[in-house]
Amino acid sequence: PFDVLVVGGGPAGAAAAIYAARKGIRTGVAAERFGGQVLDTMGIENFISVSHTEGPKLAAQLEQHVRDYDVDIMNLQRADKLVPARSEGGLHEVHLENGATLKARTVILSTGARWRQMNVPGEDEYRNKGVAYCPHCDGPLFKGKRVAVIGGGNSGVEAAIDLAGIVAHVTLIEFDSDLRADAVLQRKLASLTNVRIITSALTTEVKGDGEKVSSLVYKDRNHDTLHEVELEGIFVQIGLVPNTEWLKDVVALSPRGEIEIDHRGETSRPGIFAAGDCTTVPYKQIVVAMGEGTKASLSAFDYMIRLEPV
Ligand code: FAD
Repeated sequence: PFDVLVVGGGPAGAAAAIYAARKGIRTGVAAERFGGQVLDTMGIENFISVSHTEGPKLAAQLEQHVRDYDVDIMNLQRADKLVPARSEGGLHEVHLENGATLKARTVILSTGARWRQMNVPGEDEYRNKGVAYCPHCDGPLFKGKRVAVIGGGNSGVEAAIDLAGIVAHVTLIEFDSDLRADAVLQRKLASLTNVRIITSALTTEVKGDGEKVSSLVYKDRNHDTLHEVELEGIFVQIGLVPNTEWLKDVVALSPRGEIEIDHRGETSRPGIFAAGDCTTVPYKQIVVAMGEGTKASLSAFDYMIRLEPV
């Protein structure tokens, strides 16, 4: 069995694996896609101490750094069941889709999250070419340009307020007849002069010139008419979905499906830890995920050295 089994190979999982391996304990990582969301990212300019890098390059470096240690990497393996130890100090079981079962004294869950997509024509084609999901990451790329934010919940309105300070103009598009964000955020948004709010609007298409985004088409749901907004960027803010569906009955999840953790990365189950975008940690960012993976790993080690020897 593993001493530490990490499920998920993004920044959180890579950090957890490295910290565990450096303790000289048996460490494994099972990941559906090693690198995680980083693989889908183009320019990264907020990975502190590295002015600019690219997602696939950082993902390869993450994997290389893990491979520097004696870590059993099981890539392209999706976990579909976690059976917690029956008694404290017993072995947890992680079942993989391929039928294999992995056993471990401690488990670190770092399965990340995925941005909910609009699923309209042009969205995939222009991803990273104007279609963006992370205002903290990509906002500065649109300095002085026109953008839209899709979604009028808290994250959409926060994004619109944030972007309004950087870009020339923001169009906020909400499907419902009202914004759903907190009143204080809505008041702040309404006070900004370079923001236009459009409600009862369904985005139907992202258009571009073949290279980058040039406009967005939406349907006015009250009048059933189509409208086109010329712009350079579109921030989709209709939800970040944690990859925790398979953990529902095993560890406590928040109403949004995030794994509830304390400040040490402990879940509701002894010996099971969690880190990064799949958890309740605020701010989903690479450096945050790495710090969280580190914390969870050191906590797992701390837990292990207190167990009776087997
Ligand atoms: P993830 O990166 O999501 O990794 C999750 C891992 O778990 C993956 O290996 C996945 O395959 C695996 N997994 C999921 N389910 C299972 C399962 N059931 N079994 C086994 N494995 C599983 N952040 C920044 O700091 N700067 C940026 O510039 C930036 N740009 C971004 C651009 C885009 C387009 C996106 C989508 C995100 C961006 N982010 C950026 C956010 C950043 O990528 C995430 O915060 C970070 O990757 C989270 O790390 P994580 O390890 O928690 O999860």
